[in-house]
Amino acid sequence: MCGRPVKPTIHFKDHYAVDYYIEVTGDTERVTIASDEQDKPDLHYSKLISPKTIVVCADCIKKIAE
Ligand SMILES: [Zn+2]
Repeated sequence: MCGRPVKPTIHFKDHYAVDYYIEVTGDTERVTIASDEQDKPDLHYSKLISPKTIVVCADCIKKIAE
């Protein structure tokens, strides 16, 4: 995401250090499923129409999580 080089995950005896994550993202479109019961609302969801796999470094994940 930020383009910084990432290190492979390092495994230690009792923990491991993760430096990057693989995320699946892409363009979505809103899909509506009409309810077949009158008293229930229609369902909506976002359909992934062009999946892209991106590498996100651990620093960016921290920023997103904040
Ligand atoms: Zn980053």
